[in-house]
Amino acid sequence: MSKKQFKAESKRLLDMMINSIYTHQEIFLRELISNASDAIDKLAYLALTDQNVGLNREDFAIDLRVDKKLGLLTVSDNGIGMSKDEMEQNLGTIAKSGSLQFKQELDKEHSDVDIIGQFGVGFYSAFMVADTVTVLSKKYGEEEAWMWQSSGADGYTVSPCEKTTVGTEVILKLKADTEDEKYSRFLEQYELQNLVRKYSDYIRYPIRMEMEKSRRKEVPEDEKDEDKEPEWETYTELTTLNSMIPVWQRSKKDVTDEEYDGFYKDKFFDFEKPLSHLSISVEGAVTYKALLYIPAKAPYDFYTKDYKKGLQLYSSGVMIMEHCEDLVPDYFRFVRGVVDTADLSLNISRELLQHNRQLAIISSNLEKKIKQELLNLQKDRREDYEKFFAAFGRQLKYGIVADYGMHKDVLQDLLVFWSAKEQKLVTLKEYVEAMPEAQKHIYFAAGESNARLAQLPQYQRLQEKGFDVLFMTEDVDEFVPRTLMNYMEKDFRNLATDDLDLSSEEEKKAAEEAAAEWKDDLDFLKTALEGKISKAEISADLGSHPVCLVPDGGMSFEMEKYFKRMNPDMAMPVEKVLQLNAEHPVVQKLKSLIHDDPEKAKQYAQVLYAQGLILADLPIEDPQAYTELICGLL
Ligand code: ADP
Repeated sequence: MSKKQFKAESKRLLDMMINSIYTHQEIFLRELISNASDAIDKLAYLALTDQNVGLNREDFAIDLRVDKKLGLLTVSDNGIGMSKDEMEQNLGTIAKSGSLQFKQELDKEHSDVDIIGQFGVGFYSAFMVADTVTVLSKKYGEEEAWMWQSSGADGYTVSPCEKTTVGTEVILKLKADTEDEKYSRFLEQYELQNLVRKYSDYIRYPIRMEMEKSRRKEVPEDEKDEDKEPEWETYTELTTLNSMIPVWQRSKKDVTDEEYDGFYKDKFFDFEKPLSHLSISVEGAVTYKALLYIPAKAPYDFYTKDYKKGLQLYSSGVMIMEHCEDLVPDYFRFVRGVVDTADLSLNISRELLQHNRQLAIISSNLEKKIKQELLNLQKDRREDYEKFFAAFGRQLKYGIVADYGMHKDVLQDLLVFWSAKEQKLVTLKEYVEAMPEAQKHIYFAAGESNARLAQLPQYQRLQEKGFDVLFMTEDVDEFVPRTLMNYMEKDFRNLATDDLDLSSEEEKKAAEEAAAEWKDDLDFLKTALEGKISKAEISADLGSHPVCLVPDGGMSFEMEKYFKRMNPDMAMPVEKVLQLNAEHPVVQKLKSLIHDDPEKAKQYAQVLYAQGLILADLPIEDPQAYTELICGLL
């Protein structure tokens, strides 16, 4: 029989496993048991709807067997089994789920062997302790059984074999003991028992082993002799090693943070521990238990279509769905976890599940709990909250903007933005509460970077007044205030587009007078900058700057850029207004030139317009002409 080669990436992983001097080689057992449990899950799920399976929940089990003479350790299950193709697919290449992620993390971290034990490495970990791995499997619903066998990196074989029962048997021929590592310990019942308790206690199927035990020999009544030492005898008994109570079913006080975190890392293939976990137990209209996690980092595919949201859904101990989307709203799609409820009818179809009333109740409960947990984080563990927000804040903002702002009440308190005054992230509530008496609006500015925004003339004006400004630098940011409209009865004002409402009555009157006085000059500028601006006006909001450009109408330059990025063909140019600071010496000089030397005044107008572009972070339309113009003037 010819040997087949492993796929390249599998081979790399395999090499690593074989040569690993990893100190936690013992995790191979957890991996094999977890695979067995997954396989049983699949068949148990089938059994719900298909009478032919012929197995009940009580029949499922994972068995450990040792053969000390031959140095064999066997992990067997009566789960769904694998067909020939599946064996080649699943064991000949790195599987899609855990292992693939593993590989990606590995590439990032330059294959540091020490990461291995932190999350699922799957089937391949068997090669850390075994010379030869043999897998016998019979798939549910099929006649033939198959044997997969490999002694490591030189490949594997697949051939037909005898196996009467459905399920899988993984047989490890343990490596010979060395000075550093006693592989034979994996044949000792107490070692195995401890490993199961340590890593696999929560597995919901019995993990059984024939255990050697001893007991006092029964002595018939009439032969009893007080003075004689009691005699002992040994016997073997099929013993269940695990408690079978999953973490989420255990009472909070009995589970340590390490156990909660460990479960998360294991189950959701993350090697950073979560920021927070929530253990929920509800009895009432709907009875359920849930264990939810807020990850510390966004998975690499989080903001792509590939990311699958949803919680694992169990009903009476059977996993019925890996990603139940209906349990979490989109804006909380980063939440990972498990929901277990006995209240679902078990043979419910996935379609029906969508409209299930109980699920709807659970999901709305969970939403409240998640929000509360985030608010607690925000209040009590600010640094962690900022970490959370850096990872998932964008998702919350999308949530605000989505569905015409339908969810803003849920989400607005969770937002934080950069406060220019405080130089840190603040919530909207903190912003409003810190507003001086005279400030009537929530001011914000949107652009590329905080440093850029701090250059805005309007910002300088607000700063002089002692008003804070929220700096927004993410694409989606500017749509947030637009959707919220107001917060705690204060409306939002965009520095770039809105009336900042800063002038007193006198100042307004003065501005009107100035406008009248400047009318001819403004018309002159409009003509001089034909096609570039829609109008020119006097503004009292420019601080020490001579000019600035603001958009005409509600859409800002940032939005214009955003839409242009999204779809270049549909770009909607925003018209520009040239604002002048009548007090500024350069602007006064311009005014006198308009009367004395209109040609020169036109050149001045061009230069000031270009300055406006630069400040607004817009490109100079014709850099060469601009440079020539400046040189001419110099
Ligand atoms: P993972 O479990 O992360 O997917 P593994 O390398 O551990 O990766 O396993 C690869 C695949 O092989 C599994 O996804 C599963 O389809 C299959 N498999 C492994 N062990 C068993 C088993 N005991 N019974 C049925 N299928 C199994």
